[in-house]
Amino acid sequence: MIQFFFSPYKLKPIGNLNAASPATDREGVLLKVQWADGAVGYADLHPWPEFGDISLADQLADLRRGRMSAQVEQCVWLARKDAQLRKDKKSIFDGVDKIKNNYLVTDYKKIQPGFLDEIKKEGFSTLKLKMGHNLQGEAAALSHVAAAGLKIRLDFNALGRWQIFEKFMSNVPLTVRAHIEYVEDPFPFDTNTWQDAQKLVRIAIDSQYDKVPWQTMNHAPFDVIVVKPAKMDVDTAMSRCEKFNLKATITSYMDHPVGVLSALGIAMELKKKYGEMILDAGCFTHRLFQMDVFSAELSNQGPYFMKTKGTGVGFDDLLGALPWQPLKLN
Ligand code: MG
Repeated sequence: MIQFFFSPYKLKPIGNLNAASPATDREGVLLKVQWADGAVGYADLHPWPEFGDISLADQLADLRRGRMSAQVEQCVWLARKDAQLRKDKKSIFDGVDKIKNNYLVTDYKKIQPGFLDEIKKEGFSTLKLKMGHNLQGEAAALSHVAAAGLKIRLDFNALGRWQIFEKFMSNVPLTVRAHIEYVEDPFPFDTNTWQDAQKLVRIAIDSQYDKVPWQTMNHAPFDVIVVKPAKMDVDTAMSRCEKFNLKATITSYMDHPVGVLSALGIAMELKKKYGEMILDAGCFTHRLFQMDVFSAELSNQGPYFMKTKGTGVGFDDLLGALPWQPLKLN
């Protein structure tokens, strides 16, 4: 028997997070999960209805009726890992190597030579840019990133179209294209057009993951899976990486710092297990939001998170002090 408690929170974006979401407060809940054996673990439930997630209210209503969404299932899985570490008085940082994160930029205007020199000096090797604000400006920004000798990840959030994408890519000089590590969700998933896109550049799949005909496919029309432990069954994703010879990038879900460290913990664990198959992570998403008491506990040395205080995903005192409402089953 599992008992759920929840504590609502709001995150305040500093700027526009992507082309689909304006800069309004983001709502989610932290979940405290308690098992019959007394184990207690924490996780973050942060839906993005803009990208097809079931709304927070509906996921909680379903849970009250005893039905778990895919996201809630992941919360339980992550909370169980967290609970085990807390029981053993261990942190997600124990026994694993730190993993590098990409530098996330949501507005291409930020990409100027001085800024790039700075992040390179800090030790970042990969920059991820959210696309779709202004393709011309973004193309120019790419040249700067390439000139600075950084690798580039582009994310179109499946908002583009094949024709626009093809035109965009053919205007990117080959010397710049060589710096693109991959393009994420260039446009809505379609086996044939994604195969064509793959001829131009390495492709990563993120939000389009559920549209893939995994059972009938012989060859994947993408090279990388963006694994989001917040919503995706991680073991299944990793077995697909092995079967189709793909790499994986583990990322947080533009969510609460608890979600950030849950994802980071998985990233470090998978890196230890799979080595080269795991690319730089994408867990530096807390910097998209105004600082709060939780994110104030996060610190980094260049692309690496520093070890946080506490057990499991950390925040022991803060989590202990939160008001928790029991989630009553209907
Ligand atoms: Mg993405």
